[in-house]
Amino acid sequence: MKLLPSPLARSHRRLGRTLLLLALAGCRGRGGASGAAGRDLAIARVMADPTTVADDRGEWIELTNTGTVAADLFGWELRSANDAGYVVHRSILVPPRGTVLLARSADAVRGARPALVYTGIILGNGADWLVLRDPDGTTRDSLAWRSPPRGVALEHRRATAEAGDVRVQENARATIAPPATARELVVHVLDVGQGDAILIQNGGSTVLVDGGPDRRALGRWLDALHVRDTIDAVILSHVHGDHFEGLRELFSSRRPMTVRELWWNGDAAPNFTFTGLPDTLAAHTRARTTTVHDTDDPCGDGRSVCTLVLKGGARLHIMRPMPDVLDENDRSTAVKLVGPDSASFTMWLAGDAEHDAIRWFQTASGYTRAPGMHADVLKANHHGSCDGVSDLYLDLVRPALVVASLGAVNDYGHMHAQAKATYARHGIPWYRTDQNGTITLRTPGTPGGGYTVTVERGAANAIGPSDRKSYQPDCAGM
Ligand SMILES: [Zn+2]
Repeated sequence: MKLLPSPLARSHRRLGRTLLLLALAGCRGRGGASGAAGRDLAIARVMADPTTVADDRGEWIELTNTGTVAADLFGWELRSANDAGYVVHRSILVPPRGTVLLARSADAVRGARPALVYTGIILGNGADWLVLRDPDGTTRDSLAWRSPPRGVALEHRRATAEAGDVRVQENARATIAPPATARELVVHVLDVGQGDAILIQNGGSTVLVDGGPDRRALGRWLDALHVRDTIDAVILSHVHGDHFEGLRELFSSRRPMTVRELWWNGDAAPNFTFTGLPDTLAAHTRARTTTVHDTDDPCGDGRSVCTLVLKGGARLHIMRPMPDVLDENDRSTAVKLVGPDSASFTMWLAGDAEHDAIRWFQTASGYTRAPGMHADVLKANHHGSCDGVSDLYLDLVRPALVVASLGAVNDYGHMHAQAKATYARHGIPWYRTDQNGTITLRTPGTPGGGYTVTVERGAANAIGPSDRKSYQPDCAGM
């Protein structure tokens, strides 16, 4: 006979896993908003496996300034797998559209002397990754490879002004442009690093689903998108720092904003960093500037689905999370966004909900009937973790596109190989904020208008430097 663990023992095991996850929270990588003056350095090319000279004399890294003002390399950091890393300790100006050559040796490369000889970075000839961080520690670019071409540089970003630059500028415009009409719905899956922050704009209404891991990263995007006065609704999916930390920016005295309504599940947060946010919310509730809702009763009348109608006609269904479960991820509030023309665009977002919550969505919740789980776009649960996706889930949502929000360098192995394999098996492409920057979805809101997706850079189905297979029990057999 096979002994099955009691439900209680099982819960404790899951809680243990959650606590382990939280213990790692301090090491989370941070991604960053692009466009800041002098912060637009990127990796142009990398010679990982030179053939005419030894690796210690022939490896080099070429950086490019994709911005419109000069960038100073002072304080920037390079990191690669299992290496000490290197911080630039002197000022080197890179002109707009210009490049700078960094090398392991002072020997000339392609006839040019390197501007800088670095230490602490060895570029692997097998699998390796390279990350470029600005002086604030924000990841600005990254590149991963498995088996680089021998004797040939890996091309990453175009280094000179060619056709590609025009596309980048168009992407930047498409990313930050506000809705063009009263009905247009714009969804930004913001590049805020290892966490979730999704900004929704429609007809003058602004909604934020989660705030990401870093208040400065969220603040930069609020500035870039000219979100200054009011956020009509904030929905915190669950009480993990990579979803709520950034929300502090909304209540900062430096940024006088009004948050009209906020939904959260009211769970006691096990993470000390939550300290202060409930007090802040309580103060705003007392001052009648923010109405705080309990997502276990999202409408306040016992119904499990509460619907917000935005000023341009888009609807947001806020759903009661799975009850009686200890795992904070499985307590994620699911949200379904329906465009003004529902046939053109729908999106399903369920925070970090894992397999148990997904099964509950399918069965006891009733959400397959109302509001219905089918959606054109699925926000990947749990940053592309294998425990946030299953064949069942993709059969229920049937998305045409997956968008994942994560940091290029993360301690969790996101995106997991099994998650990507599951999306691939269903023929669903993905974009991911660590490789594509902010992902912007637009639907005009008119009948048959469809939707468009724009990313700041890169192509679909990218791999990231932290991607790996997960060996967690939840994903056994995936
Ligand atoms: Zn998360």
